[in-house]
Amino acid sequence: MNLILLGPPGAGKGTQAQRLQAKYGMVQLSTGDMLRAVVKSGTPLGQKADSIMKAGQLVPDEVMIEMISNRIDEPDAKGGFILDGFPRTVVQAEALDRMLEEKGLKLHHVIEMVVDDTALTERITGRFTCAKCGTGYHDSFKRPAVENTCDVCGSHEFMRRADDNAETVGKRLEAYHKQTAPILPYYAGRGVLKQVDGMAEIDEVTRQIETIIQS
Ligand code: AMP
Repeated sequence: MNLILLGPPGAGKGTQAQRLQAKYGMVQLSTGDMLRAVVKSGTPLGQKADSIMKAGQLVPDEVMIEMISNRIDEPDAKGGFILDGFPRTVVQAEALDRMLEEKGLKLHHVIEMVVDDTALTERITGRFTCAKCGTGYHDSFKRPAVENTCDVCGSHEFMRRADDNAETVGKRLEAYHKQTAPILPYYAGRGVLKQVDGMAEIDEVTRQIETIIQS
């Protein structure tokens, strides 16, 4: 099964995609994670992406379309995938349709995680992850059981995303409303758009998504 998780930054797309990957085996394809890996590599594309991401803007469509097309071709995506962070513009959504058709693949569900904008800044600016195993935490909502020690792997190193600061978050939300939200009517018109309550508890959001994918 191939899915898209849609929603603003901080809606919980990554968290839910990881859960679906662990339970159902579809692979999480996070364009944000892919870009952060490119940034780490320090290539010219990485340097360009780094400054765009730090400004809270979107990386050019053609770069993203090629990146996701190549990733979908990899063997682990054959058993199904969850797009997390792509498409982010109508141009990307249209390109995705074309590429799926060319590859003989179907898009089963587009799931919008509906959240209250005012909650997002706090959700995003407080989040951090274990630098070793990637487990997610939050300053207010989910601190490690033992201070400064990862619950899962025991590491003492944690990291925060460079773009998870209040100023950049405002720009990212603006980009979402201006450039990404217009995708919603695009998919609604084709009857594939479903909604879940992204403000609910994490387990409840998972349950709502499972109801959709099992329908
Ligand atoms: P995310 O991890 O999904 O919040 O993405 C982090 C940043 O990567 C975004 O703020 C954008 O700058 C960039 N990015 C990720 N996915 C895309 C995309 N599909 N199109 C353009 N830019 C993207």
